[in-house]
Amino acid sequence: MADGFVLAIHGGAGVKPRPDMTDKQEAAYHSALARVLDAGKEVLASDGSALDAVSAAVTMLENEPLFNAGYGAVFTREGTHEMDAAIMDGCTRAAGAVAGISGVRNPVHLARAVMERTDHVMMIGEGALSIARDAGLAFEDDAYFFTQERWDSLQDTLRMEAEGRLDDDPSRRHGTVGAVARDRAGNLAAATSTGGMTAKRSGRVGDSPIIGAGTLADNATCAISATGDGEAFIRLSVAQEIAARMRLAGLSLDEAASQVVMNDLTEIGGTGGLVAVGRDGSVALPFNCEGMYRGWSVEGHETKTAIY
Ligand code: ASP
Repeated sequence: MADGFVLAIHGGAGVKPRPDMTDKQEAAYHSALARVLDAGKEVLASDGSALDAVSAAVTMLENEPLFNAGYGAVFTREGTHEMDAAIMDGCTRAAGAVAGISGVRNPVHLARAVMERTDHVMMIGEGALSIARDAGLAFEDDAYFFTQERWDSLQDTLRMEAEGRLDDDPSRRHGTVGAVARDRAGNLAAATSTGGMTAKRSGRVGDSPIIGAGTLADNATCAISATGDGEAFIRLSVAQEIAARMRLAGLSLDEAASQVVMNDLTEIGGTGGLVAVGRDGSVALPFNCEGMYRGWSVEGHETKTAIY
């Protein structure tokens, strides 16, 4: 529990298996997470809103090629990028989301533009892109979104599929970025952004942009941003389920989040995790897989980052 601001971020549940992670790589992940936390904390420490803090944090995570979102987004099986993002304000329960979009440098900015400039919650295709143009958002060409590591992952995945021996290396399958915050005024917010899953079919949409599945913020309960097998998170309405257990069954954030992730998600064969902050400032970071790139900061306490 905390009275001041709280921020928690993730860079996805697609962690490199421990034996494959070099010390240098591990240090790079920790320092990227720490830089993002510092930027988000700066917003919150100057009495900025939770909404602005999660926007700032996710923007930085999207610009960091270590993580699967924005620059660093994974490829579809057709070798293209289709990105999903969402943002939600727990104070008003206003929300904005986009799915399957290409070319927009920071999909979280477009999600926010949908929230702030339209009467809609979720947009796709040309209609979504026209909002980006009207809002003056930055566009990038395919070369910007190309990263060798993601391209190699696509080729490996397609080859393994063809040979009928697809492994379940989480670093090829998973990845997403997200942030949740509570500001000094007690308002909550959440934002999530992803390239989805490597070698996904064109047109596939995951849980990240679906309010109540991979993203949710409600001042009455909690703010959540998830990562993992999107289909499983959608089927369980993971974020909404956690909030409902808090609201209706009186569970704490920690109890509700660990029940849903460790029991329900595991039961249907889904893997992944989430970052969550409660209305009381509590933080929960459950995952049922090898790890989740994550970091959290509670006002007045030391900032922490972790992977496994
Ligand atoms: N949840 C994301 C999706 O299904 C991917 C991930 O976080 O690994 O698109």
